[in-house]
Amino acid sequence: MPNRHAPKHPGDLPLNQWELRLMLGEEWEYFSHILQNFYCSCGEIGRELVDYRVFLDNHNDIILRGSCSICDSPAARTISTSEVEENVIVAKRIRKEKNK
Ligand SMILES: [Zn+2]
Repeated sequence: MPNRHAPKHPGDLPLNQWELRLMLGEEWEYFSHILQNFYCSCGEIGRELVDYRVFLDNHNDIILRGSCSICDSPAARTISTSEVEENVIVAKRIRKEKNK
């Protein structure tokens, strides 16, 4: 389904909820917190990233692309999963599974 907030970025791999959870590991616990911490030019307090899609980029970081709950602008949040070696291993496994 086309989504106006999710332009195509070549190399980005869409992740489902289960794969996202696998990637985040223990950080999954803080996921709701992550959704409340993203840059938006409106700067409103209490904003959340809504209507988002999850991608794994070429560097094995997770990117959430969605919109701001307050002003409805396109917004994104990167989770630097590639800093943890364990996560990179999981990312490679997911990539391999998807390419089957
Ligand atoms: Zn906003």
